[in-house]
Amino acid sequence: AEAKKRGYKAVVNRAVVRIVTPGTLTEDTLLDARSDNFLCAIRADEDGASTAIAIADISTGRFCVLSVPADNMMTVIASYAPREITYLQGASDEGLVRNALSASDIPLTPHVTRQASPKGGQEALVSAFGLKSAEGLGQYSGLEFSAIGLLLSYIELTQAGIPAELDFPKRENLADHMMIDETTRHALEIDRTQAGDRKGSLLHTIDRTLTAGGARLLGECLSRPLMDVAQINHRLDAIQAFVEHDEDCEALREKLKKYPDLDRARSRLRLNRAGPRDLMTVAISISTAESLLPILSGEGLQRTERLNAIYAALQQGMTNGLTDLRDLLSATLVDEPPLSVSDGGLIREGANSELDRLRSLRDDSRRIIAELEAEYQNSTGISQLKIKFNNMLGYYIEIPARFVDDFEALATDEVFHRRQGLANATRYSTDRVADIARAIDSATSDAKALETRLFDELVRSVLNYSNTLYDLNQAVSSLDLSLAGAVWASETDACRPVINDSREFEVTGGRHPVVEAALRREGQGFVSNTLNLGDQQQAHARLQVITGPNMAGKSTFLRQSALLVILAQAGWYVPARSMTLGVVDRVFSRVGASDDLARGKSTFMVEMLETASILNQASDRALVILDEVGRGTSTYDGLAIAWACVEYLHDVIRCRGLFATHYHELTQLAERLPFAGNLSLKAREWRGDLIFLHEIQDGPADKSYGVQVARLAGLPKAAVSRARQVLSELESSKTGNSVPNDMPLFSFQESGDGPGPQAENSEPENRTNPALLLLDDLNPDDMSPKAALDALYQLKGLSGENR
Ligand code: ATP
Repeated sequence: AEAKKRGYKAVVNRAVVRIVTPGTLTEDTLLDARSDNFLCAIRADEDGASTAIAIADISTGRFCVLSVPADNMMTVIASYAPREITYLQGASDEGLVRNALSASDIPLTPHVTRQASPKGGQEALVSAFGLKSAEGLGQYSGLEFSAIGLLLSYIELTQAGIPAELDFPKRENLADHMMIDETTRHALEIDRTQAGDRKGSLLHTIDRTLTAGGARLLGECLSRPLMDVAQINHRLDAIQAFVEHDEDCEALREKLKKYPDLDRARSRLRLNRAGPRDLMTVAISISTAESLLPILSGEGLQRTERLNAIYAALQQGMTNGLTDLRDLLSATLVDEPPLSVSDGGLIREGANSELDRLRSLRDDSRRIIAELEAEYQNSTGISQLKIKFNNMLGYYIEIPARFVDDFEALATDEVFHRRQGLANATRYSTDRVADIARAIDSATSDAKALETRLFDELVRSVLNYSNTLYDLNQAVSSLDLSLAGAVWASETDACRPVINDSREFEVTGGRHPVVEAALRREGQGFVSNTLNLGDQQQAHARLQVITGPNMAGKSTFLRQSALLVILAQAGWYVPARSMTLGVVDRVFSRVGASDDLARGKSTFMVEMLETASILNQASDRALVILDEVGRGTSTYDGLAIAWACVEYLHDVIRCRGLFATHYHELTQLAERLPFAGNLSLKAREWRGDLIFLHEIQDGPADKSYGVQVARLAGLPKAAVSRARQVLSELESSKTGNSVPNDMPLFSFQESGDGPGPQAENSEPENRTNPALLLLDDLNPDDMSPKAALDALYQLKGLSGENR
């Protein structure tokens, strides 16, 4: 508009007003409402031993800083799942950072700045927050200041000079959280499945939150479970309060359905990138939060420490001016404001008298135009005469071509200036049209300018409450989280875990939350299982070797155990009848085979790298889950490696662990190692068919049933019978020698029987139906309603299979 005023060919000023990068987005349309959008800046010290990481989400204002030993850098970064990482280009730590991140697919952006130094970072922090000194913001090391400086400078670059507008930095302490490395996260499918989808992950399965803030908080709880027993219990207390008062829970959730994403709106307001709807978001958030108070203070609901804190924050917000702010916003804004200020029409009628005056002037002028049009139609006798508007000419009078000659011949009082001739019409202007057009123009642009000014004033009023709004949103998000926990707990019949500082890990009736949900959708039940890891012998030993047929559920059981630990320390109820857990500092998991051929690592190499990292990093407080280690190489090598790993975990690391294997030889370790035991998964054979009971029992498994599973999978008949023949031959040639082998080989050694018809005979004659076999195993007196329902589903499944 400016340039247009100066003339048609005037030069328009152009400037880069923002660089859009994955880690610096603020637009709702570009962001996932239910995930954080972190940007990371990393600096490492001279010898590459320690690193400092500054992390910010400019879409919510969150800002934190951590110091991490270089070995753990990737683990910590994985827990934040940043969308972009920046490093200092040309610095001595560039190689270290780039190498560490070479395997990850997070975008890496080089940045050059003098601020990525201890002094530069301090100055950047002081200037970003408009302070005199950085002292009040906490003690940071030189390396941490360097990372802070790098981060702030990168944000400033991408925002083209607009200051970062973050909340005060918070130092995160590594020891406060359970560590879960990237491989483990991937294997356990915590927030994404291995295919990269959110659906099917643990987070997606348990997420019952209603607000974006609550969903992000849940993601954070699962990404960084707690270590402190008291803090975990605070979260659990709040969930329990709502489990016991489901009416209050429902009433609060009904209100929360309307709660918008205040955090992101607040950030856009701070970054001068907001629209009228962001102001409305603030008003709705305050009203919704206010409506929670009477329910929270109602009788009966146990006011736990966390709920008290939530209530206090909401109450304080209201008394500290938020209700006034809400009243101001609702009195000033229309009920449904437009998307952007330039659309106009965001200020309510009656809110500002000057605006009302300009608007009526504008609307009056429109009426006057209509009247003038009618007048011209009368005076010329041309009813097709129209007064129209376009951007080139503004307002003009249009006469259709067939009337033009008559019109030009008319003697009119006013002078009609010819403006434009078209094939089908001619356009004119008069002094009166020009005057009215000017009046409309200035009233419209004055009204627009005034609306923009009023909008800016409202934004400033909101920003005066930025911190109070932050606290309000935190309180609502954590309320949403606790409510969601209670809903999930009731829906899935989950129990409150007992958390302490012991080395126990005891679960009865444990279930895999994701597999159970998937089976339920197919109308099938999940078989719950028991685990007891502790400092005793055999079945209560801290390290259990798990054997059992293929498809029996070993991997499921392993993952389930790790997920229960993560859920419990996230302060969430667990899908089990009961659970006691001594806090775990790190969960390690190596399950399934994968290769990384693009980076020159074979399946076995990847397996060994992951195993090495576990054995090198685990402490006695860790939970280690290893599935079929050593399967990627020859039988002897594999068995030897697996053997050594179990011994190392038992003797050196002394942590709790589960080790699933098909090397039956490993079951002998339980006799040699005092704190190791054997567990196995039950399966039954009937007429050559396998029935998987998915039930864990003490002691090693008897068979592997590999050939039967191959048959079930549809291997051609000829191949299956050949496999049986080979197996049988291998077995007989093996008699008398002690060569270690996989379970399929040993399994027939004792009986001397081949598989197939003989196996059939081992079943009691009167048991001809797999459902009856299963019924045999059930003891109605010992079953919970849930277990009975599961058994019913399983029986139903079996009857379906036999039809
Ligand atoms: P393999 O040795 O071949 O790797 P596995 O013993 O590790 O097999 P899983 O992959 O854990 O077996 O389980 C096989 C299937 O059994 C799963 O896909 C799951 O659907 C089902 N399953 C496992 N555990 C249970 C359970 N407790 N209740 C019901 N179904 C289960």
